[in-house]
Amino acid sequence: MRSHLLNDTTAESYRRSVTEGIERVAAKLATTTRPFTGVTVDALSPRIDEIDLDKPLLDTAAVLDELEDVYLRDAVYFHHPRYLAHLNCPVVIPAVLGEAILSAVNSSLDTWDQSAGGTLIERKLIDWTTARIGLGPVADGVFTSGGTQSNLQALLLAREEAKPARDGWEGPAAFTALRIFASEVSHFSVKKSAKLLGLSPDAVVSIPVDHDKRMQTVALARELERCRREGLVPMAVVATAGTTDFGSIDPLPEIAELCEQYGTWMHVDAAYGCGLLASVKYRDRIDGIERADSVTVDYHKSFFQPVSSSAVLVRDASTLRHATYHAEYLNPRRMVQERIPNQVDKSLQTTRRFDALKLWMTLRVMGADGVGQLFDEVCDLAAEGWKLLAADPRFDVVVAPSLSTLVFRYIPASVTDPAEIDRANLYARKALFASGDAVVAGTKVQGRHYLKFTLLNPETTVEDMSVVLDLIAGHAEQYLGESLDRAS
Ligand SMILES: *Cc1c(COP(=O)(O)O)cnc(C)c1O
Repeated sequence: MRSHLLNDTTAESYRRSVTEGIERVAAKLATTTRPFTGVTVDALSPRIDEIDLDKPLLDTAAVLDELEDVYLRDAVYFHHPRYLAHLNCPVVIPAVLGEAILSAVNSSLDTWDQSAGGTLIERKLIDWTTARIGLGPVADGVFTSGGTQSNLQALLLAREEAKPARDGWEGPAAFTALRIFASEVSHFSVKKSAKLLGLSPDAVVSIPVDHDKRMQTVALARELERCRREGLVPMAVVATAGTTDFGSIDPLPEIAELCEQYGTWMHVDAAYGCGLLASVKYRDRIDGIERADSVTVDYHKSFFQPVSSSAVLVRDASTLRHATYHAEYLNPRRMVQERIPNQVDKSLQTTRRFDALKLWMTLRVMGADGVGQLFDEVCDLAAEGWKLLAADPRFDVVVAPSLSTLVFRYIPASVTDPAEIDRANLYARKALFASGDAVVAGTKVQGRHYLKFTLLNPETTVEDMSVVLDLIAGHAEQYLGESLDRAS
């Protein structure tokens, strides 16, 4: 069994084995004609259930054959131009190469003595990102597992910074007074974080959005004022730069003004909109982000990086101390004096992947403009899609895109019952998924079911969008036709 350990004596076997796997994936990518096969849970479960994990196949080729059957054949393929659903992106080759390297070397970024150069590479990428944001000379941050974790960490720092606002209050008692302000279309991880941070159930104040799904700053000002009047503590405002559902960007400069006025921590959740940090054409859409106290970025959404690759950035490096704990075995306090850079001092995780390497490879091979251009292309594509939808009487489209998302619904000429229209749209999404021809997402707008394109693939064309819209209309029509039959 030692022959499976990766070391000096097995380098050749490593090369062969990994190449074999890469060949399978490459063949798959080259021949995939649909984003999905439409396989059902019921069809796939028995194939996985019947595998006895206590009876290994002992042969890589045989395991890869089996994997074809239980995974590769029916996986959802994000590189396909008709995958238009979630914020999971097609990935760039330099990043996939980085992934292969980082797992083979297997650095762990918690301490210098498990990482060495990896630590410095991560730090340089953090500095690169904070400079792009414009966070100033004492900014810092750390890579995380995703936007959810970045938001949690940012709000932890905000909570700790806000606590002294109530003199004499300690621990959970102080938490009950804390309030977070986020728009009604902010990410659910804000509420989840509030719960994890021990805040009261009504800690997150939902701020209404305007017609373009941007936070209404008049409402924010009113709620901040009410908070102060009631003797509560405005712990943080979470501005979203690219909402998950609409790609809308909250008015960052106005929000920054209000945060300054009320002494409130400004967190910008740019999990999606961070792609504009590299944009050649549209960087100005996130102007004001430089005034944040903390920022969430998901490179695995708009920098074409494989899952996971994300970071939380802060204006003031010293605030990261709220995540610092020392262990004698790992990162004893004396190492701080010795100026040994242990990233665990800044992180919620301990053992941590060298995800930064993927972004490093990407920037070194393609350059920031290269990545930014790809994101610009999907933003341009969304603008084209908006025109397509706005001109098509079969569809109602919600907001003009600020990034690369389109939310719309099929509206049949013959049917006026909104519940029936809901059902037709739900059916169309399901039927499309089951056909595997394309994958789209869904969401609710003012209580009604809508469909969603999240465009992250520069290979998607206007023609693809047009074909998928026809498919949606076809499925919805079929549902309504059958529904008429049922009624008669
Ligand atoms: C996706 C997303 C998140 C969560 O990020 P994960 O990487 O999925 O954990 C947070 N905020 C926004 C606005 C998002 O779009």
